Parts: sequence; C-alpha cells; structure tokens
Amino acid sequence: MSLAANDPSRESWLDIPDNSDFPIQNIPFGVFLTRDDIITIGTRIGDYAIDLGALHQLGYFEGIPLTDDIFLQDTLNDFIADGRKTWRSVRNRIAEIFDIKNDTLKNNEKDRETVLFTLDEIEMQMPVEVGDYTDFYSSKEHATNVGKMFRDPDNALLPNWLHIPVGYHGRSSSIVPSGIPLHRPQGQKLPKGADEPIFGPSRLLDFELEMAFITTASNHLGEPIPIEEAESYIFGMVLFNDWSARDLQKWEYVPLGPFLGKNFGSSVSPWIVTLDALEPFRVEGPKPVKELLPYLKTKGKKSFDIDLEVAIKPENADEETVVSNSNFKYMYWNMSQQLAHHTVNGCNVRSGDMMASGTISGPTPDSYGSMLELSWGGSKIVKLKNGEERKFIEDNDTVILRGHCQNHEVRIGFGEVTTKILPVFKS
Ligand code: CA
Repeated sequence: MSLAANDPSRESWLDIPDNSDFPIQNIPFGVFLTRDDIITIGTRIGDYAIDLGALHQLGYFEGIPLTDDIFLQDTLNDFIADGRKTWRSVRNRIAEIFDIKNDTLKNNEKDRETVLFTLDEIEMQMPVEVGDYTDFYSSKEHATNVGKMFRDPDNALLPNWLHIPVGYHGRSSSIVPSGIPLHRPQGQKLPKGADEPIFGPSRLLDFELEMAFITTASNHLGEPIPIEEAESYIFGMVLFNDWSARDLQKWEYVPLGPFLGKNFGSSVSPWIVTLDALEPFRVEGPKPVKELLPYLKTKGKKSFDIDLEVAIKPENADEETVVSNSNFKYMYWNMSQQLAHHTVNGCNVRSGDMMASGTISGPTPDSYGSMLELSWGGSKIVKLKNGEERKFIEDNDTVILRGHCQNHEVRIGFGEVTTKILPVFKS
C-alpha cells in the first residue's frame, strides 16, 4: 500500500505553526484524556489533538475494516495488533480528511467541534500498555565510554559487543509518559575506598538519551523473525529517557546486569511516530567492524537520521540549557538487527512491547547522551546558562529530550519528553 500520507506537497486546512514537529505528513498515534474525562486514541496535527474514536463513530473511516471500538480504548495495543496494512490505511485516510482540498470535515462545524481539541484541553497518557520492555546497548561510542570508565580503558568494549546487539530485559511497570515527575531513588551503594555498602539517596542520578521502538504481535513462541521482515513488525518510535542511578548501578550490576539502578523509572514521549512517517529519513548506519553472522546481516538504509537533544532546566532558572546534541544515526546496531537478535532463540514479541536503543552517544563530547559521559564520571563540570554547574541531575531539575527529522521538504518530529526529578520519597 502506498504511503500517500507522506506526500510532502500536501497541505492541511488546519493551521500548523512553522517548524511544527507535527505537520500533516507526520500523523502520529497517542492516547489522551479529553476535557470531558473521556479516554480516546488520537492523532496530532500542528497544535490540535484529534479524537479518532469520535471520527470513527461519525463514519470518517468508512471502507476500512476496523472494529467499532478500535479507537475507544485506553491503549493502542489492539490497533497496533491489527498490523501494518491497517496502520497505513488509517494514516492515509487521516491525511485525506485534513487535506486542504477536502471540505467534508472542514465545513461540518458540529463534527469539527467533536473531534478537535487544543492541547490545553487534553492530557496525554501512556500510548501503549508495555507488556515487555527490552533495553539494548547499541551505541558503540556509549559502550566504549562506559567501558573506559567502569572497567578497562584499554579494552573498553567486551569481546561480545561487536558480534551481538547486547541487551537486557527491563521493567515495564515504571515506564511513564512525559510530564510525570519521578522521585530520586535510594538504595545501596559502595562509597569510594569502602569495603561495605551504605544505604541512601542516589547521588549520581542520570538521564540516558534513547529512542524506543514499539512492536506489533510478531511471532509465535519458538519462531525467529527473519531480519529482512523485522521492520514490518515495528509500528513506530518514541523518545525514551532511561533514568539511571549510577552509584546503585555500579554496586549491583555484576554479574546479572542492571536492576534497581534502572527500574525506578523511564520516561517516554507520548506520540508514537510511525516508521512509515520516518521513511524519507532513512540512512545507512555505521559499517560493521567485524563480519556479522548471517542472521544479523542487513542491506541498505536501515537507520534513520533523527536529530536529538537533551536540555536541563533547574527549578529557578529562566531558561533551559541544551547539554547534548546527538543523532539516532550513530547507532551501531539497527532496529532490524535488534529485533532479529531478540527473537532468534524463539522469544516471542507481542503488540505494545517496547525496545529501547541504549544511550545514543555520538563521536564528539558534546554529543554524549548521559551525564556520566558529559561529566566523564563526575570529573568534569557541565555549566548551565544560569551559572549553576552539574555533574549529575539535582532535585527539582527538569530534563527534556527532543527529537526531529528534517529535509528540504518536511520536518517530522517527536515533540518532547519532559521529566522533573523530585526529592527522595518521604512517607
Ligand atoms: Ca539504557
């Protein structure tokens, strides 16, 4: 099916601000609570949120095989499970409904009032119920930096790293949408030079600049997903901040990997941008350094050129400070390789599963995707515009991740994921 929704020449009868992340060519999917306290699945064009449940009830999706309640749900899981043909039909239809050449909804004031909301009238929710969350470790620059700091500067990458997309299973219950604050975690940590751990608030709280992809129901238990089919099971992507407590992490991570240093919270942007919308921004990823096993070999442009940034805004600062500029294209392992690897042993993947990239660090110090790297383990200072200094994240800091793609015709963006860090929880 054609990606008619991507037509860069298409204009909408809705007002779209210049440089919006959400032109009519984007058409992301999300879940929101309306002014009447009704939860619905929706999309966004410019600064309007569009109630797809209401549009469907009014008959605007006629001819597309959809169940009556497909959009009247509090998650996108069932819609995503319908598969790529359905996502494409719906995205194409939404593009037609809001096309400047189409008067049907534009001239129907009653319908328009029912389906259109301004952003201050809605509250974004988690877009999917995440059954399983997997976090990869797929940026070579990040893995090298962390290996240098945590282990051995001369052998920063472990021998397996260039052969498999290293990952671990994370915790889905604590994944929250943008706007939900998180408390500073506490736990065990080993002070420098000490033999015994102490208990207390994490002092090395960090963000991780990541993106995550969301899958549809992909395979039966026991059945691997061939790498050339992997992308057809990926619905779309979000920005993903994988909060990390470095002091807890350092003490606990051997031998089984991350646990309480990671599972106290991860934050996602609320609109899932479809892989289809990202189609014009395909690029080739880095060339493999080592010959890959056949099940991990990909051809062509399997990565995406997505500019990313991280900003910190202290509580009393007038303005934020951008502390990192990176790009998704730096990822050594692409999403197809991650999904093929994840399932090569027969592990089954379900609709709404979320797979994060790992921290996306670029080659230069200003493109590092965590405070651990930006402050090089706390040995350097990151200066903020209001004169404050940071090595890690302080109480009441707000951390903002943003991402967008841009070419000479269109800009497709993810909006942002914004999280405020509250002090340690006190009962
Ligand atoms: Ca991570």
